[in-house]
Amino acid sequence: MRAKTFPRGIHPPEFKSLSEHLAFETLPAPDKVYIPLHQHFGAPAKSLVNKGDEVLVGQKIGEAPALFSADVHSSVSGKVLAVEPYIHPAGRPVLSVAIQNNGEDRRVDPGDIPADPTALSAEEIRKKVKEAGVVGMGGAAFPTAVKLSPPKDKPIDTVIINGCECEPVLTADHRLMLEFPEDIINGALLVRKATGAARIIIGVENNKKDALDLLRKKAAGTGIEVETVKTKYPQGAEKNLISAILKREVPKGGLPFDVGVVVQNVATAKAVWDAVARNLPLYERPLTVSGPMVTTPKNLIVRIGTPFQAVLDSCGGINGEADTLIMGGPMMGLSQWTADVPVIKGTSGILLWKMDRSPREYACIRCSRCVDHCPMGLVPTQIMKLVKYDHLEKAETWGAQDCVECGSCQYGCPAKIPLVHWIRLGKNKIISIKKKKSA
Ligand code: SF4
Ligand code: SF4
Repeated sequence: MRAKTFPRGIHPPEFKSLSEHLAFETLPAPDKVYIPLHQHFGAPAKSLVNKGDEVLVGQKIGEAPALFSADVHSSVSGKVLAVEPYIHPAGRPVLSVAIQNNGEDRRVDPGDIPADPTALSAEEIRKKVKEAGVVGMGGAAFPTAVKLSPPKDKPIDTVIINGCECEPVLTADHRLMLEFPEDIINGALLVRKATGAARIIIGVENNKKDALDLLRKKAAGTGIEVETVKTKYPQGAEKNLISAILKREVPKGGLPFDVGVVVQNVATAKAVWDAVARNLPLYERPLTVSGPMVTTPKNLIVRIGTPFQAVLDSCGGINGEADTLIMGGPMMGLSQWTADVPVIKGTSGILLWKMDRSPREYACIRCSRCVDHCPMGLVPTQIMKLVKYDHLEKAETWGAQDCVECGSCQYGCPAKIPLVHWIRLGKNKIISIKKKKSA
C-alpha cells in the first residue's frame, strides 16, 4: 500500500544515519543551569524564587500568569544564584533563574501517584499536564493543557500522534518510539480522554520501519491505529499530517480544532504520561546532538537549562571547521551566535554545520520551483516581492500569514533568494500593524 502524504514538499538529504541507531544516554546535570521563565508560546512565567533560595529538582520556580503560558520547574537541586535576564536561544535575553547545582539531586515529593492514570477525568488530566508545565516538544512549545481543552463548539473526533520527525538529522523522536513505545501509547490514550476524541492515529514516516513495526505490536488491542506516511518534508507540519492521514484541509488562518483534530508530537505524548502517571514535571527533555561537525553524535536526555556548550562537550566537541550552531533541525531551526545559550523545552536538537556561505543572491528567474514546493499552496516569490516593497496588505491577501516558515521554497531556489526571511519579516510587520490598530 502506498504511504499517505500531502501535496508538494521536498526531499532534502536526511543525515539521520549519524544517530538513528544510538540509544539515549542521560547527560549528568551540569554545575549551573540557566532556566528561562519564557520558553513556551504565550506569556512568560512569573518567578516564584529569589536569589539565595534553595530549590529541589522538579520544584516549581515559575508560575504561568495566563492561560497561554506554562509553569517552569527547576532541573537541579541547589541555590538560586540570580533571577535576571540571560541569553536565550530565541535571540533576545529572557528573565531566567540561574541555579548552582549542589550535586545532591534532591527531588520534590511527587505526591500521590495515581493507581490507574487512565481512570482520571479529563479535567484531572488537563490539571496535571498544566501543573507539570508540559508544552509541545516538537519545537513550537505550545502549552499542552490548552491543546487538551478544545472549544465546546469544536468537538474533536481524532487525535493524531506525530511521529514523523521529518526534519533532516534529528532522531530523538525516532529513538523515543523505539525505547519508550508504551509511554507514548499511554500518553496518547490520556490525550484522547482529555479531548473527548474517539480515534487515535500515530503517524510515522516510512523511513522508520522499526518504529512502525514496534508501535503496531505494542498498540495491538488498544484501538490505536498506526499509519505509515511518506518520508517527505514537511510531512510533520500539523496541517500536512492532517491532510495526509485524514484528507481534511485546515482552513486558511484556522487550527486543527476547526477540522476536529488535535495533533501531539510523540515526545509530548510521553511527557503527558510522565506528568499524569508519574507526577513528573517537564525539567528534562530528549534531543539529538548531530551534524557532520559533531565528533560523536548522540541522542541525549538533557536537563532544561544546561548550556549548549556542556552538551557539545559531552559529544567530544567540534570536529573540523563548523561555522553554524543550530537549535532544532536544519530546515526550521534557529541559528545561535553562542554555545552558552541554555537547553529549553523546545530544544529538539543541537546541530553543528559548515554552511555554504556564498553570499551572492541572483534575480528571480521565475522558474516557479518555490511555488511547486510550497506545502501551503502559496506563491512565495510574489509574497517576497510584496513584502520587499512594503505592500503588506497585498502580501496578506496573497496568504503571507499562512506561511508555516518551513523553508521548502528557499531550499530549491536557484537564485538563492532568502524567501523565508522576507516572508517572516512581512508576517511580523502585519502582526504589529494589527496590534497598533487594535490598541
Ligand atoms: S524558486 Fe527562486 S528563482 Fe524560482 S521563482 Fe521562486 S524565487 Fe524565483
Ligand atoms: S512560503 Fe512558507 S509555507 Fe510555503 S514553502 Fe515557503 S516557507 Fe514553506
